[in-house]
Amino acid sequence: MALHIVAEANRCLNCKKPMCQEGCPVHTPIPVIIQMFKENRLLEAGEMLFRNNPMSAVCSIVCNHEQQCAGHCIRGRKDSPVHFSSIENYISEMYLDRMEVKMPEKKDKKVAIIGAGPAGLTAAVILAQAGYQVTVFEWKSKIGGIMQYGIPEFRLPKTMIDRYQKRLEEMGIQFRTNTTIGSVLMIDNLFRDGYASIFIGTGAEKPRSLNIEGESLGNVHFGLNYLTTPASHKLGDTVAVIGVGNAAMDVARTALRNGSRHVTLYARGKHISASSSEVEYAKLDGAEIELGMQIQSINEKGPVFKKSIFDENDKVIGYEDELIQVEADSTIISISQVPRGKLVRTTDGLDAGEYGELIVDENYMTTKPGVFAAGDVVTGPLTVVHAVDGAKKAATAMIRYMENN
Ligand SMILES: Cc1cc2nc3c(=O)[nH]c(=O)nc-3n(C[C@H](O)[C@H](O)[C@H](O)COP(=O)(O)OP(=O)(O)OC[C@H]3O[C@@H](n4cnc5c(N)ncnc54)[C@H](O)[C@@H]3O)c2cc1C
Ligand code: SF4
Repeated sequence: MALHIVAEANRCLNCKKPMCQEGCPVHTPIPVIIQMFKENRLLEAGEMLFRNNPMSAVCSIVCNHEQQCAGHCIRGRKDSPVHFSSIENYISEMYLDRMEVKMPEKKDKKVAIIGAGPAGLTAAVILAQAGYQVTVFEWKSKIGGIMQYGIPEFRLPKTMIDRYQKRLEEMGIQFRTNTTIGSVLMIDNLFRDGYASIFIGTGAEKPRSLNIEGESLGNVHFGLNYLTTPASHKLGDTVAVIGVGNAAMDVARTALRNGSRHVTLYARGKHISASSSEVEYAKLDGAEIELGMQIQSINEKGPVFKKSIFDENDKVIGYEDELIQVEADSTIISISQVPRGKLVRTTDGLDAGEYGELIVDENYMTTKPGVFAAGDVVTGPLTVVHAVDGAKKAATAMIRYMENN
């Protein structure tokens, strides 16, 4: 590992106009970090990475590097790109264990963060580093959001989230887990109790339904529900997964690792939305993919499909009449997620769009004054680094808001 990353660092051309940095949604200063790494200034590099992206250690593992830093690296045009993610991982994992937490004097203003996913945790770090007293309210028993309850252990070790929690607590951030806002406690209760501003980072974790017959049967599950506690599901030998996105690949790989032997993913069209590396891994693990299959219903035997009819541009233009019964012990629906409506239903003045996404202005403030939001709850399902990007901008806007109010 060490030799490999030193060799990778030495391949960097230290470009004047670093395309890698432009390809990164949070514009990580890649050549500067690589220079620091080569000069053995690891703690300094770790601090710079953490300040720019508190989730750097996670992003170094789960980002779609082929489309971001590595995908834009100039060396990739003729040769293989510089694999910065391995260098970032080395530095950021080391920094997570060795960082010296030095915090500014506390201000007398309190901030509430709702949701402990990457958006909430990023906002919490930035606000704590600016001196605010931060309390994070999290519905589940552990922090991390989808990093904890969606991305499987074999891709992202959960111990990393525990290491984050330790550091964030040292920063003075308080966690109230097993606490749902919009149930016993409402957003207005938080204002009553003196929080000067509130950040919502509640994600998009409600599985999208297919609205077809059979979805409520005992042999049918939703992808994110399954990934939350795979061991509690008895899927059987043969599993049909409806969907071909990244989450569906995680579902298939998890099922194969938990004892299922035949896992097939189905999609209506010919396009696979998951990243090519996730598709390759799923195939390596033994998953199969069948395209051009439109789900019609699910029964006790498994899913029922119709074959799609395509035009010359591979666009679906209709379906064949014949119904195809696929035999499967379990069917897992993994097509997408939307935000839950709890906060909107229980908060006067908090507005959402058609799919439940919170409406925010250019400063990431929601339609309720003093309440800001970012991450999947605003954008719909995206990625960790996009949640970080939005949360950074929202936290900066919250600081401006609290300085002026
Ligand atoms: C299976 C799967 C695999 C993925 N793999 C990748 C990947 O490899 N790389 C990548 O970059 N992205 C991946 N993503 C997407 C990524 O995980 C999300 O985009 C990201 O986690 C969004 O962050 P967030 O903070 O907005 O929301 P979340 O991570 O969803 O966190 C929201 C948190 O808010 C809590 N919450 C919700 N409502 C309330 C409430 N009312 N009160 C208190 N707490 C509440 C939830 O319990 C949760 O902990 C994946 C997504 C899925 C589903
Ligand atoms: S584009 Fe590639 S070679 Fe250039 S600075 Fe970035 S990592 Fe180095």
